[in-house]
Amino acid sequence: MFSPIQYYNWRSRRDGIEYGGRILAMPNGTYTYGAAVSGTPTSVKLSAISSNVVGDYHTHPLVEGYDGENFSGSDIDGYLASALAVAQQFGTMEYSSFLGTPRGVIRMLNSTSANALNPINLRDVAGEKCSCQ
Ligand SMILES: [Zn+2]
Repeated sequence: MFSPIQYYNWRSRRDGIEYGGRILAMPNGTYTYGAAVSGTPTSVKLSAISSNVVGDYHTHPLVEGYDGENFSGSDIDGYLASALAVAQQFGTMEYSSFLGTPRGVIRMLNSTSANALNPINLRDVAGEKCSCQ
């Protein structure tokens, strides 16, 4: 599940823009992810939801004066809107948003967790050197 963030996070830093896409459930019970679309330094417009969408991911570049280490207010709004839309339109009751930060932290919001608005840190690689630089 982390692979799209690992793939796009350093590209985000390199290009100074956000990348983001949807996470899809496969018929065999596994997950895959759609290719990312590129956004601006502080936003990305994700593709429309469909019947197999169960989440999304996006990455933040380092932008001065912008808290890239956390989900923004509009990130949380988008997560809630998507979670509601997949539930209403497709009966999908679990939705997750993953964020990759400039410091390499991966955070997750999950609609079925005890506190659906409290991000869970999945991986904190701050301090690790990236081979891409
Ligand atoms: Zn964001």
